[in-house]
Amino acid sequence: MALPPAVGVLALQGDVREHQQVLTDLGAEVVQVRTPAQLDAVSGLIIPGGESSVIDKLSRIFEIAGPIKARIAAGMPVFGTCAGLIMLADTVLDSINGQQSFGGLDVTVRRNAFGSQNQSFETQLAVPELGEPAVHATFIRGPVVESVGPQARAMASLPDGRVVAVAQGNLLGTSFHPEMNGEARFHRYFLDLVAEHSA
Ligand code: GLN
Repeated sequence: MALPPAVGVLALQGDVREHQQVLTDLGAEVVQVRTPAQLDAVSGLIIPGGESSVIDKLSRIFEIAGPIKARIAAGMPVFGTCAGLIMLADTVLDSINGQQSFGGLDVTVRRNAFGSQNQSFETQLAVPELGEPAVHATFIRGPVVESVGPQARAMASLPDGRVVAVAQGNLLGTSFHPEMNGEARFHRYFLDLVAEHSA
């Protein structure tokens, strides 16, 4: 029997372990990815929450930014939460000087759009594609998706209309942290993309 394809969690900075745990609980083989060789060995990648400017800098220092962009262009499934969504966005507002993203998602995000750390909040978020119940969503200095380009689609919005989850082909991004709330449906969605892409 073929082994299930390993999936990676980009492990430069951020809440790597939380993602690893959700994926492991779902039965996936998970590896931490820091080098281009480790990236070569995975068939999908999660970019965790953390600090996007740090993930950006480290990814360039470790010379894995270019290979990640190439894999995104080749259709590898990637799921980014919070800082990970920022790294997937084609356009980032309120970035620090010189900050870059991997890109791939046809969206514009604004960093820290919900204010500072002490304005973090949790809410019940309807995500129609995931069905019932609503997603318990934790926002920690998350980005908001200010515009969704024609290639991407909004998966979830707050009651005031601000978009906080987006998808485009094999890419998926959330402003919040499903990995912190025992919410596994986004990770399952991601693993389904990996299984389809690897088939
Ligand atoms: N504010 C962080 C950034 O700009 C994201 C916060 C998070 O990932 N929880 O990267």
